[in-house]
Amino acid sequence: MVRDDADQLPVEAAWWRDTASTCGLYVHVPFCETKCGYCDFYSVPLLEGRETGPLVRCVVSELRSRKRSASGAIRTIFVGGGTPTLLPLGDLRCLFDALGEVASGGEVSEFTVEANPATIDDAKLSVLTGAGVDRLSMGAQSWSVDELAQLERLHSPDDIAPGVLMARRHGIRRINLDLIFGIPGQTLASWSNSLDRTIALCVDHISCYGLTYEAGTRLTAQMGAGRVTRCDEELEADMYTHAIDRLAAAGYEQYEISNFARLGERCAHNVAYWRNDPYIGVGPSAAGYLNGERYKNVADIGRYVAGIEERGEAVLTRERVSGVALAGETIMMQLRQMEGLNVGRFTRQTGIDALSALAPELSRFSESGLLTVDRERIALTRAGFLVADGIISELYAALGESGRGDGSAGGGRAIR
Ligand code: SF4
Repeated sequence: MVRDDADQLPVEAAWWRDTASTCGLYVHVPFCETKCGYCDFYSVPLLEGRETGPLVRCVVSELRSRKRSASGAIRTIFVGGGTPTLLPLGDLRCLFDALGEVASGGEVSEFTVEANPATIDDAKLSVLTGAGVDRLSMGAQSWSVDELAQLERLHSPDDIAPGVLMARRHGIRRINLDLIFGIPGQTLASWSNSLDRTIALCVDHISCYGLTYEAGTRLTAQMGAGRVTRCDEELEADMYTHAIDRLAAAGYEQYEISNFARLGERCAHNVAYWRNDPYIGVGPSAAGYLNGERYKNVADIGRYVAGIEERGEAVLTRERVSGVALAGETIMMQLRQMEGLNVGRFTRQTGIDALSALAPELSRFSESGLLTVDRERIALTRAGFLVADGIISELYAALGESGRGDGSAGGGRAIR
């Protein structure tokens, strides 16, 4: 009899038992008030007079068509961007009427929308809750005026608590707040203050991301020109470990490298990404993963609208993912979680026995205290989380070496 690995997981993590017949839905709304200097997501400033209706109608059209062709039920919805709540009320209603139809089927267990603290109001929140939204994910980022200015965010610390309270007044119980550490000029004291003020709001979920310098962003150009000094690496590591300890003391369980939640409040949509489960993506630049194929829509509003209107789709690239590529991706995603990589499930997903294919690397990382490895699970330790990117890319590279990832599912050697 094949053992079901879901049985070994905490109750709230076992929902993926039937993910083969379900998927997530991601909707990308590519408008922001202005472009933040560090951001490399596809979004454009919503200049006065710009019409958002044609784009919204195309997103709705793609949504209906992809939903028809998806084999599984939609379990989670995540509307991000961009800043979805920036849409004018009529277009917001048009989009959320269509999403409300999806949610009304009774199979959606989580419906999340991203928002900036200063872009929500009563009318917009009524549209969201009318469609069934039960989770709001707000980019607080920092409680320091100077740090928000450094990030080129438009909201002020004074917008954060009122935004949370307004959402709660509308019955949105589950609130995620995002914070950023490693901001140039940030101190451990100011990071600690941001954590404390966020915790004081008793939100259900807190994400802590280290600031990254992505190619092509204004922030990276400023660093290259010597106008911005990157946060010291040791200080950044101290900020991260301080967050882990402070949030644990406040009752938040760390379940992923950057994500912390109260018991039972993990973000199911993101958990499905990290498990490399299927999802539909709609909107400009959105990616999807269905039936073993990844696709990515064109990251350009004009070309997206033309594609949907003329051909019913706006896909830029498609790629069938299998073998070593699938295994590498799955390692990259699943090791981000505290529970790590489930060896049996990984073999069923990829056809590769990770314990055998990666034996030398697992042994080395295990001996140096960066991974815990047994017959059922491979997981990063606390020290491992600090250097996660390096470990994951070494494992990924090792799989790509000739023959290492090929069909070794039959005879794994356990490492202890
Ligand atoms: S608000 Fe968010 S999506 Fe928009 S530019 Fe800023 S970081 Fe990027």
